[in-house]
Amino acid sequence: VLTAIELLERLLGRYGPQGWWPAQSAFEVMVGAVLVQRTSWLNAARALERLDEAGLLHWEQIAACDPAILEGLIRPAGFFRTKARRLIGVADYVRGHGGTEAMSRLMTGELRRQLLGLFGVGAETADAILLYAFERPVFVDDAYARRLLGRLHGRKTHAHDVATFVRDLVDAGETRKLAELHALVVEHSKQHCRSSPACEQCVLRARCVYPATDTRPAPS
Ligand code: SF4
Repeated sequence: VLTAIELLERLLGRYGPQGWWPAQSAFEVMVGAVLVQRTSWLNAARALERLDEAGLLHWEQIAACDPAILEGLIRPAGFFRTKARRLIGVADYVRGHGGTEAMSRLMTGELRRQLLGLFGVGAETADAILLYAFERPVFVDDAYARRLLGRLHGRKTHAHDVATFVRDLVDAGETRKLAELHALVVEHSKQHCRSSPACEQCVLRARCVYPATDTRPAPS
């Protein structure tokens, strides 16, 4: 069975470093993590750019922003009314805690608990924020990771399977490796391990259970 570190090395060899998360500050990562919900990074990045141009990439500004203005600016990210509410909630929370610097002094478990208490912040968004904004050794357990691990191992993957898979990296505090692994899993899932996977050229093929159990007709 492929270990997390082997998976990381193979994907790194195939796709190279992904450079996640492209942001100037922890707060910008938080904003991006909300904007990218249910859309592509391209759309989220366009919304981020518009916020930046409007001088709004700070919690004080977003917390005090007129929701209608915010909605207009983040329109490219979709679900803009809901996301504007979420952003205001996140910014208000950061402001209430004295900024991201003060938040970074919280223990990971406590910070995660508080993030999960925010409107519209689920486990995936909270863990992305912990990993990329606050450099905590957590893994983002998302649909891509579940699908890839499920196919590699030939069985349905649950949260505890993902946690077991990355445990050594988490316990060793390998934040950078966890950050790279998540980014690479997303990239691999977009390029090869798609809903209809392209196994022929996949670097994981020799270690993956799925191709042997695939009942789809062979590509002509
Ligand atoms: S061999 Fe196919 S199913 Fe397995 S990881 Fe690669 S693309 Fe996904």
